[in-house]
Amino acid sequence: MEKYIVTLDEGTTSARTLVTNKKGDIVSIAQSEFPQYFPKDGWVEHDANEIWNTQRSTFTQALGKANITGEQISAIGITNQRETAVIWNKENGLPIYNAIVWQDTRTAKYCESMGQKDVDMVREKTGLIINPYFSGSKVKWILDNVEGARQLAKEGKLMFGTINTWLIYRLTGGEVFITDHANAQRTLMYNIHTNDWDDELLELFDIPRSILPEIKSCSEVYGKSYAGLISKQDMTQIPVCSSIGDQQSALFGQLCLNDGESKITYGTGCFILMNTGEKRVMSTHGLLTTIACAYDGKITYALEGSVMVAGSAIQWLRDNLRIVYNAVETEWYAGQVTDDRRVYVVPSFTGLGSPYWDAYSRGGIFGLDRGTKREHIVRATLEAIAYQANDVVNAMQKDIKKDLKFLKVDGGASKNKFLMQFQADISQTNVVKPVNVETTAMGAAYLAGLAVGYWKNVDEIRKNYKNDFELKPTIDKKKADWLNKGWSTAVERTFSWLKDIE
Ligand code: ADP
Repeated sequence: MEKYIVTLDEGTTSARTLVTNKKGDIVSIAQSEFPQYFPKDGWVEHDANEIWNTQRSTFTQALGKANITGEQISAIGITNQRETAVIWNKENGLPIYNAIVWQDTRTAKYCESMGQKDVDMVREKTGLIINPYFSGSKVKWILDNVEGARQLAKEGKLMFGTINTWLIYRLTGGEVFITDHANAQRTLMYNIHTNDWDDELLELFDIPRSILPEIKSCSEVYGKSYAGLISKQDMTQIPVCSSIGDQQSALFGQLCLNDGESKITYGTGCFILMNTGEKRVMSTHGLLTTIACAYDGKITYALEGSVMVAGSAIQWLRDNLRIVYNAVETEWYAGQVTDDRRVYVVPSFTGLGSPYWDAYSRGGIFGLDRGTKREHIVRATLEAIAYQANDVVNAMQKDIKKDLKFLKVDGGASKNKFLMQFQADISQTNVVKPVNVETTAMGAAYLAGLAVGYWKNVDEIRKNYKNDFELKPTIDKKKADWLNKGWSTAVERTFSWLKDIE
C-alpha cells in the first residue's frame, strides 16, 4: 500500500491541500479561496472559522482526487501565512474577533509612538522591527478593543495563535495548543537568544503569557487528528507533524539548508530568505533576522527581506490600468521593447518594505516621454519586481560580506522567463528554478515526513530536487550598475511622498 504525506498550505487568499509521494511528486491538489474583509482603510481581516472550514474542505477534496484512505497518510504537515493573529475562547473554541491579517496596518500609529529605547530593545531581542506587520501589536489591539477580552485573558480563558496554531488546534479537536519556533519568532514576543517567549516583550505589548501556546520544533509529532476528520466511515487519526511559516517552509522546500543558500519567492509580495546556519546575523542594511527552522535538535537562522508589492503589481496592470489581459502576456509585451528608454515603475503602493521601510512612500512612474508605450510600462513593472528583490540581495551581500553564488526561485511569477533573466542580469548571479515550484508545500511535507521516518534524512530528499532551468547573467556589471542607478534614483524620489504632500 503506497503511503503519502498531506500538507495543508494555508495562504493569505486561499487554502490548499497537497498530497505528496516519496519521490516528492504532487499527486493531488485542492485549492479554495476564502473571503477577505476590509472593514476600514488599512484593515485586513479573515474569519478564522472560514479559514478552517475552507482548509478542511480542500483536505477532503485532495484525498478524494488522489483516491486515498486515512491509512495511507503517514503524516500531516502545515504551512501558513505568517504573523496573522487570532484569539479564541478556550471554553468554546470560538474566535473572539476576526483574525487580523499580516497586511493590516491599523496599529501603525501605536507602533510609531514607541520610544527609541523600546525600538532598540525589540530589535535586539527579536531580530525584527516594531511594525504593524508582526503579530504583537495586533494581539494588543484585540485585547484592548474587543469588549471583555482583557477580563477573559485575566481569567486564563483566551488562546492566541498564528494560523498554524489555530489549524493544529482544530485538526486535533482542541487537544493540542502549540506553535513552532519559526512562527513564534514572527510575533515580536519571542526572544531569538533564549528561544522562548520573553517577559519584557510581553510587558511592552501588555500581553499575558497565559494566552500563548507552547513552542515546539518545526518537525515532530504534535498530536493526532481527531477521529472523523476524514469522514464518518474512515476514523483514522493521523499524526500532525510539521508546522512552519510559508517563507521558511519554501526555504526548506528549496533545500537551502546550508549557510549562504538563498531563495526568492515571487508571489503577491516577494520574499527573500538566506540561510545563515546557526549564526544570528543582525543586519545593518534593513533586513530582518529570522528563524529558518527548528529541526533535528537545532535552531537555524536566516536573513529576510520582504518586498510588499511584486506579483500584485502585475495584477495592478491587469485590473487597474487594464493594459494586459493576464499575467502571462506581460512576458511578451516586455520583449517588444528595449531598455534604452529607461522607464522605471516604483510600485510602492503600500509603502516600501526591505530594505527601505518607508511606510509613506507611494508609487511612481519615471522617465516618461512622448514615445513611451504600454510595452515600456509593462516591462518596467516586471523589472521593478527584480529591482526590489535585488535591493534585498545587495543588502544581504553587504551583511554577510560575500556574494551569493546563485538564487533559487519559486512562486507564481517565477514562471516569467523575462523576469527571471532580468533578475539574473541585475543581480549578476545565476537564477535556478526547480521543476516543482510548490516549494512552500514541499518544505512542510518534508518536515512532516522526516518526523515520522517517511524520509530517512535530508540526503534522501535531495534526490527529489530537479532543476527546470538555470539562467546566467547576459549583461556585464557595468550595464547592471547603470540600470540600477536609475532605479535607485527613482525609488528615492518616492520616499516620504505622503508626508510631503500633507
Ligand atoms: P500567492 O501565493 O502570493 O497568492 P502565487 O505564488 O500564486 O502568489 O503567485 C501569484 C502572483 O504571481 C500574482 O500576483 C500574479 O500576478 C503573479 N504572476 C503569475 N504568473 C505570472 C507571470 N507569468 N508573470 C508575471 N507575474 C505572474
